[in-house]
Amino acid sequence: MSAESTANATSMDAIVALAKRRGFIFQSSEIYGGFNGFFDYGPVGAELKKNIRDCWWADMVRRREDIVGIETSIIMHPKVWEASGHVAGFTDPLVDCKVSKQRFRADQLFFAAVVVNDQSIGYVSSLESVDTTATLQGMAESLKRRKAIQGVLAPIVAKDFTEATAEEIPLIPSPATGEPGSLTAPRGFNMMFQTNVGAMTDGSSVAYLRPETAQGMFVDFKNVVDTGRVKLPFGIAQIGKSFRNEITPRNFIFRSREFEQMEMEYFISEDADWATAHREWIEWCKHWLLSIGLPAALLSEYDHPKAKLAFYSKGTTDIMFQYPFGVQELWGIAARGNYDLTQHATASGKSMEYFDEASKKKFVPHVIEPAVGVDRIFLAVLCAGYAEEEIKDEKGNVEKRTVLRLSPRIAPVKVAVLPLLKNKEALVGRARDLYKKLQRRYAVFYDEAGAIGRRYRRQDEIGTPWCVTIDFETIEKDGTFTLRERDSMQQRRITETELFALLEDAVY
Ligand code: ATP
Repeated sequence: MSAESTANATSMDAIVALAKRRGFIFQSSEIYGGFNGFFDYGPVGAELKKNIRDCWWADMVRRREDIVGIETSIIMHPKVWEASGHVAGFTDPLVDCKVSKQRFRADQLFFAAVVVNDQSIGYVSSLESVDTTATLQGMAESLKRRKAIQGVLAPIVAKDFTEATAEEIPLIPSPATGEPGSLTAPRGFNMMFQTNVGAMTDGSSVAYLRPETAQGMFVDFKNVVDTGRVKLPFGIAQIGKSFRNEITPRNFIFRSREFEQMEMEYFISEDADWATAHREWIEWCKHWLLSIGLPAALLSEYDHPKAKLAFYSKGTTDIMFQYPFGVQELWGIAARGNYDLTQHATASGKSMEYFDEASKKKFVPHVIEPAVGVDRIFLAVLCAGYAEEEIKDEKGNVEKRTVLRLSPRIAPVKVAVLPLLKNKEALVGRARDLYKKLQRRYAVFYDEAGAIGRRYRRQDEIGTPWCVTIDFETIEKDGTFTLRERDSMQQRRITETELFALLEDAVY
């Protein structure tokens, strides 16, 4: 068979459809119409997500001598979030449309003045998209046509709504209605979910679902130092759910209200070279993304401009991924000084100082923080791995195949075991034996239903790297199986020992 890839530019619709069809991702509470910003992971999705977590934990924690892992509670003392600055400052700028009652994030709402012959003839607005400027330019041209104004239209200058002046706000149309006059000025909206702990529901019982896992590491810093036999430089890592009441959850699982983070706080000496440590972590993170199969060509770096950093921050670099809806943040690597530990020391009255044996000095360590979302990695591997191909069989017939090129490290199923025929006891028996043996170490799938080509195709769609077929040569000749590779669709004969060696090498 030969293959030709027809879809380089993967569409989100195709990804969402595959995710539903094959049991990767479902809408949360779908039978009740869904719940915006929340998702469920189906049988295949739960495996893929667990593999992403497990690979990160193995590489970040188990295979390193300088990093330990912890698991802290989702609801912490409310004072944690006062000290960290989240109660006062974890806000997004919110804009209301008074007519449609819709809400927008001001930094995702773009607008432009429409200028013809140096005269403003009105404003256009649009929510951020892959090419917001082109969208606004198109809207400006149609406004000019609608108003039947002759003259030269100036190229539009797109700004986000946080930059709108008080005079401009009433003139900017709402993206919901297309009419000006209904948008409010932006105001800070705190994204933390509140709850009440205990039987009372008054102000004294208010607590928050954590908006990040990082504070768990800072709050437990002393406990880890006292019990973990750690020495600077060292890291504390954690994987867990975080919650943010995002104003506009969107782009499938990219921005949701409940999501999972993998964060690590790497503590360094107060006079260590933070810039070198920061760079080393950026490189580590990029290398790790390649190790789980993301192509380097879809990754880039974005340095946050110094002027936009928080006062305590020394530098933040994001590793960006080219999603179908644009280049967006995947992993943030921040050099945060000793701000967090100092804040908790001040608020709790407990010292966060570390005694350095070598220099005999006491100080509050500084930190480098690589923070990434599991769900964003999940979406990235789906987007990078998805392809639609036209394949020709031996007779020259053309058919379409959808394939998910997932790295064997994270693929939900590593091998599918297929007896050639389901009504031949010897084939089925041998296949079940192999299946049971493989199952002790790997996620495997047994399938005896339907034509072999159709069974291959089902595995292609969930990203299974290999299928082994138990055929007559297996039982009548030398015991070898047919191994079929997902990407090349090549087939070759392989012994059981070779199969285990192949898996041992590729799945780590
Ligand atoms: P963004 O600017 O996209 O809102 P952020 O800079 O606020 O993200 P951080 O607070 O640095 O994000 O969180 C660390 C990581 O957690 C992000 O790089 C991202 O991978 C993930 N993350 C943050 N918010 C969400 C969300 N709402 N849904 C899914 N993942 C998220």
